[in-house]
Amino acid sequence: KPTQIAGFTEITATATMASATHGGRAKCLQRLIRLGLPVPHTVALSFGAVKGLASGQGFDVAQLLAVFGDRSLLCVRPSSQDPDWGGPGAILNIGMNDRRHLELSQSHGEDAASMLYLRFLQSYAVHVARLDADAFDLTEADPTERLKQALIIYEEEADEPFPQDAEVQLLEVLRSMARAWEGTTARLLRQARGAPPDAGLGLVVQEMALGVGPGESGSGVIRFVDQVTGLRRVSGRYLRQSFLRDALEAGGGALYLLNDPRGPSLEAEQPEILERLNEMADICRARLREEMEIEFTLERGKLRVLDAVRVSRSPRAALKIAVGLAEEGIISREEAVMRVEPRALPELLHPQVDPKARRDVVVRGIAASPGGAIGKLVFSAHAAQSHAAQGEPCVLVRRETTPEDIRGMHVANGILTERGGMTSHAAVIARGLGLPCIVGASGIRLSTSKKTLRTLDGRVLKEGDLVTIDGSTGEVLAGEVEMLEPALDDSFQSLLDWADAARDIGIRANADTPADAQTARMFKAEGIGLCRTEHMFFEEGRMMVMREMIFADTEEDRRAALDQLLPMQREDFTQLFGIMVGQPVCIRLFDPPLHEFLPSDREGARALAEALSLPVSDVMHRVEAMAEFNPMLGLRGVRLGVTVPEIYDMQARAIFEATVAVGRKGAHVVPEIMLPLVSARREVELLKTRIDGVAAAVKNETGASFDYRLGVMVETPRAALRAGDIAGHATFLSFGTNDLTQMTYGLSRDDAGKFMGAYVQQQVFPEDPFHTLDQEGVGELLMLGAERARAARPGVTLSVCGEHGGDPDTIAFCRAAGFDYVSCSPFRVPVARLAAAHLAI
Ligand code: PEP
Ligand code: MG
Repeated sequence: KPTQIAGFTEITATATMASATHGGRAKCLQRLIRLGLPVPHTVALSFGAVKGLASGQGFDVAQLLAVFGDRSLLCVRPSSQDPDWGGPGAILNIGMNDRRHLELSQSHGEDAASMLYLRFLQSYAVHVARLDADAFDLTEADPTERLKQALIIYEEEADEPFPQDAEVQLLEVLRSMARAWEGTTARLLRQARGAPPDAGLGLVVQEMALGVGPGESGSGVIRFVDQVTGLRRVSGRYLRQSFLRDALEAGGGALYLLNDPRGPSLEAEQPEILERLNEMADICRARLREEMEIEFTLERGKLRVLDAVRVSRSPRAALKIAVGLAEEGIISREEAVMRVEPRALPELLHPQVDPKARRDVVVRGIAASPGGAIGKLVFSAHAAQSHAAQGEPCVLVRRETTPEDIRGMHVANGILTERGGMTSHAAVIARGLGLPCIVGASGIRLSTSKKTLRTLDGRVLKEGDLVTIDGSTGEVLAGEVEMLEPALDDSFQSLLDWADAARDIGIRANADTPADAQTARMFKAEGIGLCRTEHMFFEEGRMMVMREMIFADTEEDRRAALDQLLPMQREDFTQLFGIMVGQPVCIRLFDPPLHEFLPSDREGARALAEALSLPVSDVMHRVEAMAEFNPMLGLRGVRLGVTVPEIYDMQARAIFEATVAVGRKGAHVVPEIMLPLVSARREVELLKTRIDGVAAAVKNETGASFDYRLGVMVETPRAALRAGDIAGHATFLSFGTNDLTQMTYGLSRDDAGKFMGAYVQQQVFPEDPFHTLDQEGVGELLMLGAERARAARPGVTLSVCGEHGGDPDTIAFCRAAGFDYVSCSPFRVPVARLAAAHLAI
């Protein structure tokens, strides 16, 4: 029958022990004892008892000691509710005194006895008597000599001899640990790790298993899975003649755990011990449903388990372990899904900078697109292309990127910009391409003419210098750093398939190119939710035609240029439909201000003048005339559709002709056409009439029949407010939360990065609203728009296609609001699938 006296409980197979009353370590030890593992005799003190000790209440320490019998040495270890909250360090070998030293010298040898005593004396002096640690920094080689000196120093410093009474020793140790928990530093530290202000501390008093003495004695720690990869592999340490902490911290002298040609191993010398540890890990896995790290001691060859903790693990190991446990039938598939944090997934999709590698950080910026990339620095898109042509990996550095950089971005291995935030051009494109990217690295000064990058602390990197960028942490590292390969293996696929079985909101991808669409399919998106067609005009050979179209003086000239673009667009859509066969494809008509397609410098103007046989001054003049003060609020989106309708006519025709073309090959497609930047019902009405007209013409010319769906992007606050009205003409509404956030806040998505850090730091905004949906403000517009649209058209399809679509909190919001799907960059699709499953389980 377990001893249970005010505040302490002997841990036995049947004792009840909750982490909320005795802490996680006590609870775990109880489970190990229940599983029959050889845990030394242990007593747990409750949070209440420890609190009492800290405030000086009496405590029946004699009764506690009686549980152990007077020959044992004891150790006391902390047991906070959550192991991550920390706690005071363990104190070992309590009970050591002159008499025990003599006895142990006979049974275990004088050196071992002196080491045990010395170890206790030093921790007692520093943590309990609060003496200066340096005073005990002794250099004598002989442990017994060191001990003698330490006893003298203790008496001098403390003005009293070292306490010999085990009761006094234990009570003082317990008190000092209880008080340490109440200290301000400890409280602040644990609160920073998420502990509540009133978090309690339990203490565990355990009989020491001596890792020193005759025979095979030592201590160690062992795990059976790799902490980085999650693959089955034995790792850990075992050190002869040591207490546990020494084994963990020691530099050399440890035995290999498994057979190893380099030296002696535990497996070779004590095979049955390794066997037994392996069995114990199997028991823990099956019964605690976890991969555990086992801390053990051998005393004269006798194995004892002091503790077992969950193996700490990288995200990729967490996924592998969870899937492994589910495949063994130890946990359910749902539980495996719940054990993997969606936000940790992006790391697995890309090569990743090895967390164990040495990092020489050159500069930090905003981590805009995850993964690691190694390459030579280049300062222009052109240089990126010439490096790529020679098969040389490169990292493209720009002050900020523009559409003209797109081809350089496509071939670069990573992107770094001095300016910009999470929705800047560089960030959006890089996420779409799955390229590691860092933006807003304001600590660098670029000189594109000298082709150098200078940091605030004076480091200079030049073109061709090798760097590694870590888009997961936002760090630019000097040189080539070790990488881990992406982890898109069977475990990854299984986990996401299980997530799909559980989730109840659709996930589509934003995909502009066939390559994006392939990625979307690879990650099992349920269709394309946003195809931004303007990117198609930056392709080789198209830019010039586009410019001719923009420069056309007459409708006829404009149509002639568009006629050249039509077959190219048709081919784009035919390819997309071909890749996405069987799934919806939502195409957004042309959105950006036209002048984005015009040359931005004199050199570009000269090339265009040559192509158009116009004087450069004419070209410059026209470019100037098209400039707008606020281009993002100017002639763009549906406004172009209304005022220069030939562009949308051409795009609609290309979409319908592609529909017919794939239809003839047996693939049935119902294209979705979406109008950007709408703010009034009449815009939709006008364009619906025109697009219907184009559809009728294509049907007429081809004799084919097809359907299409017309939808509207809700990107202006007015469109959200008037959603009821607008839904009269649209079968679906997709909230473009990038522009909607920009317009709701009146906050430029391209410039906000400069001061967003200060805003978030001073808690003006809880987070960057371009990153995490502002549920209170922008979210209210979403709710209002959804409600009004549904009232006008029950069954209207609702979705979000801004960058927020891949963010777990935004997905939760959309699911709660009953949206049909979210659409996000292809590389965020796995995160979205997993996050959606977490909400549904
Ligand atoms: C949006 O504004 O949310 C959107 C998806 O469109 P874009 O990012 O292309 O402006
Ligand atoms: Mg937009």
